[in-house]
Amino acid sequence: MKVCKFGGSSLADAAQVRKVIDIVQADPTRRIVVVSAPGKRYDGDTKVTDLLISLANSAAAGEDTTRALAEVVERYASMAQALGLGDGITREIHEDLKGRLLKRAELEWPAFLDLMKAAGEDNNAKLVAAAFDAAGIKARYASPKDTGMVLKGDFGDAQLDPDSYARLSRAFSRFDGIVIYPGFFGYTREGDVVTFPRGGSDITGSILAAAVCADVYENFTDVDSVFPVDPRIVPEVKKAEGIPAMTYREMRELAYAGFGVFNDDAVIPAVRARIPINIRNTNHPSEPGTMIQQSRRVVPGTVVGVASADGFCNIVVEKYLMNRQIGFGRRLLQILEEERISYEHMPSGVDSQCVVVKEQYLSREREARVVSRIKEVLAPDYVAVERDITIIMVVGEGMCYTPGMFAKACLALASAGISMSMVNQGSSEVSFMIAIRAKDRDEAVRALYKAFFS
Ligand code: ASP
Repeated sequence: MKVCKFGGSSLADAAQVRKVIDIVQADPTRRIVVVSAPGKRYDGDTKVTDLLISLANSAAAGEDTTRALAEVVERYASMAQALGLGDGITREIHEDLKGRLLKRAELEWPAFLDLMKAAGEDNNAKLVAAAFDAAGIKARYASPKDTGMVLKGDFGDAQLDPDSYARLSRAFSRFDGIVIYPGFFGYTREGDVVTFPRGGSDITGSILAAAVCADVYENFTDVDSVFPVDPRIVPEVKKAEGIPAMTYREMRELAYAGFGVFNDDAVIPAVRARIPINIRNTNHPSEPGTMIQQSRRVVPGTVVGVASADGFCNIVVEKYLMNRQIGFGRRLLQILEEERISYEHMPSGVDSQCVVVKEQYLSREREARVVSRIKEVLAPDYVAVERDITIIMVVGEGMCYTPGMFAKACLALASAGISMSMVNQGSSEVSFMIAIRAKDRDEAVRALYKAFFS
């Protein structure tokens, strides 16, 4: 059995919904269909989730919501009309939204906002189920409430309550035929609607795939496959072959450095349950896409992708004879722990220690506190914070036990005149990290792409 998730661009209008129906119909094992809210139909368009956030804001500000509400309803109405669904579904959606708006009086703002955001997926699932029906394919809408999708944590940033797996598994075992399920939200134990972070329908899909022990979790989006580098930096990669297969480890390393494959939270349930994830294109369903799984056939000496992420900074601490001081590293990290700063990498020299952290966690005030604590506790010869650091991850299981991979990267960067400020490689050899100045990012990525892929 396959769980398929369709993103917002795959459901942006009636033509896209028809493609979804065809895709699901083409494979009888596609039984659970997780849907996002309608996304952008063209550049400059607004996603329904964003329309709903504006609507919630207007309602909270006590403004007249007539226009904002009409704009959301219109998105569904135009789809319903083009799909020949009649007015019933549009009326139902309109009533649903009005009912949610009335809850403004009784809910705190974060709960109200989540209730409004969830309307995008919930109503789309109902509309898509009606569209399947109209196309003569039996499909039913199933709600997160009735199936036991209980979440915990903060509004807008929920996580699954692990007991939900058993409930979901039981609920789905009772369904036959195709189930259309809204992504992005669930319920608290108290019964409030609560959403995952933005993009969270991926998380719903992954949870359901794990709960029903799916053979594959198909994630339909608008690219043929995952590219080995960011096409915004290397446009010609779009003409080259995408990544046919990668391992969970490779994906994790690439996603860490900003590969827009998935956010980490989305893959955890599928990875834990060892469910293969297949990224596919709704617009080119015959393309096999990228398969992400526990293991793959690896060609020695190959790299699967080069990712880059901006927004890091580097805390540099130097002290003569540091290597002989017991507990130096622990005390340094403890200072960060006291400030609740999580660190990313920790490359070191004989008498120097760098700690790479995300810039977003090191405001200027925090930086001042951290530096003064380091001076107080460690009495270093030198301490400084370098900002505007970009991290490049070169990733591939094929690098394991292959000499010369790092040399190739160094040579490529050297030929492009780019200086590396830090490097880090774990013993797994599945990736190495190179830190550079942010201004050199694009050129560095292009140089590495050329070295490893052309
Ligand atoms: N519709 C939500 C968003 O735009 C969730 C999703 O599409 O996955 O973030």
